[in-house]
Amino acid sequence: MTKIIIAIDGYSSCGKSTLAKQLAKKIGYHYVDTGAMYRAVTLYLIRNQIDIHHPEMVAEVLPQIKISFGLDEQTQQQFTILNGENIENEIRVNPRVAGFVSDVSSISAVRRFLVHQQQEMGNKKGIVMDGRDIGTVVFPKAELKLFVTADPAIRAHRRLDELAEKGQNTTFDEVLANLEKRDHIDSTRADSPLMKAEDAIELDNSNLSREEQLAWVLKLVEERKTAAGS
Ligand code: C5P
Repeated sequence: MTKIIIAIDGYSSCGKSTLAKQLAKKIGYHYVDTGAMYRAVTLYLIRNQIDIHHPEMVAEVLPQIKISFGLDEQTQQQFTILNGENIENEIRVNPRVAGFVSDVSSISAVRRFLVHQQQEMGNKKGIVMDGRDIGTVVFPKAELKLFVTADPAIRAHRRLDELAEKGQNTTFDEVLANLEKRDHIDSTRADSPLMKAEDAIELDNSNLSREEQLAWVLKLVEERKTAAGS
């Protein structure tokens, strides 16, 4: 059966990973959350007190960072592993990670380090990968590229709900400010800025339910698989 690469890019908290996870499960593909990889590197740098304003110091410690993913058998949820430790919860709720991750992601050495690993993960295809530069840099030849957007206030509400579910209390204004700051840094950085690949299909999911969104994407997947197989 023909397998393809599905690249999903877009702004912070626009539902990319929810869509990517649902899609991967439905079609039996691997799911890779590249944001989790940037968050894991950020956590390592924070814990080891590496000054992120000195890219050469950051580059030096990168070989000590091993990132992988595990699957919780009970919940069937994927989790992120940093040097053997499950750090899934910490990278989601630690405000310092959210505060620094976009600065860390602007460091070219970090991007090269992670992009290389992401490309290896996709070399057998059959993968759904989400992030900011998947369709432009990691897999510029992906058979299907989506660029997801949603209204910033809707995104901030979704993120606030997600944090509340994890027992994290914060305010709408704080969440919105963090999203806007990350969007700004991500879209204006010199190395691999967040942008829509020319051949990506834009999906504004502000007013779509998860089911509607998935149905829409599944149709595209079938089309692209047929085209790739012929
Ligand atoms: O997707 P998530 O919000 O978890 O990503 C966290 C941060 O990681 C983003 O704000 C961005 O700075 C960075 N990132 C990136 N390139 C990717 C994925 C994430 O620069 N492919």
